[in-house]
Amino acid sequence: MKKILIICGHGEGDPGACSTMDGVHRQEYLYTRELGNLLMGCFGDADAKVTMYDQNKNCYKQNKTGTGPNFKAYDYIFELHFNAKRTPSYEADGKITGIGFYLHTGIGGVSVEKQILKNVVALGFKQWADGLFYVTNLLNCNKAYREGVDYALLETAFIDDLDDMRWYDAHKKQVAQAIADGIIDGFGIRKAKSAAQVTEPGWKRDTTGWWYLCEDGSYPAGGWKEINGHWFLFDDEGYMLTGLQHHKGKAYYLCEEDGPNQGALMETDDQGALTVVWTAE
Ligand SMILES: [Zn+2]
Repeated sequence: MKKILIICGHGEGDPGACSTMDGVHRQEYLYTRELGNLLMGCFGDADAKVTMYDQNKNCYKQNKTGTGPNFKAYDYIFELHFNAKRTPSYEADGKITGIGFYLHTGIGGVSVEKQILKNVVALGFKQWADGLFYVTNLLNCNKAYREGVDYALLETAFIDDLDDMRWYDAHKKQVAQAIADGIIDGFGIRKAKSAAQVTEPGWKRDTTGWWYLCEDGSYPAGGWKEINGHWFLFDDEGYMLTGLQHHKGKAYYLCEEDGPNQGALMETDDQGALTVVWTAE
């Protein structure tokens, strides 16, 4: 179980970096809070306990006066910011400046941060230079380092670069998921199908739902699988779907009733009543 603290940078009277572009006034502290809130919803059933630091406080100010959070209670401190340039690019020039991290010079490993960068770049965003900037002049970062706690400060995008913010505004939900996935996979805390279950082929159930283990050790995901004369549809994680589902542009109805037919593809008979499709002769 990884204990993660999310800190939304600025606030408490400090708006952070600001810009007005496309007729929108953007303030860093509102962006960090929004992203923090999106992020909180992206950890699914990963083996993590994610805590949001009080958004009405400014962690930097609190730490300055010694009233900040107890960093030692966490395995990973993740602080959100948006960057600003010495020379803003308020005009669209087709160039995104991109995402990057500030990390302590003495940090032990950067696999989580590299995974996050990779995920966000895969969405079509850019990495800001090397994406990893090593520093010793950030208060929260130094405090975490002194206390032996893993810490990363994310500069999500440049708030004064119109290309950055147009892209970010249109993709913020995907960015939040890409960041969470980077943390989950970087730490290896994605909930694996539990080892005890992965022995005999057949239907398996965990806290999320039903999944099916094939003879070869694989499991169906992101499509259809015929099992014992019925067709079942599985989501991208490999869990059986029920009810009305859309797949590749078509709508299907999958049996919702608890029992052996649950999840089985249904069709309507000549009277319009739903029946389970049975393919075995
Ligand atoms: Zn900032």
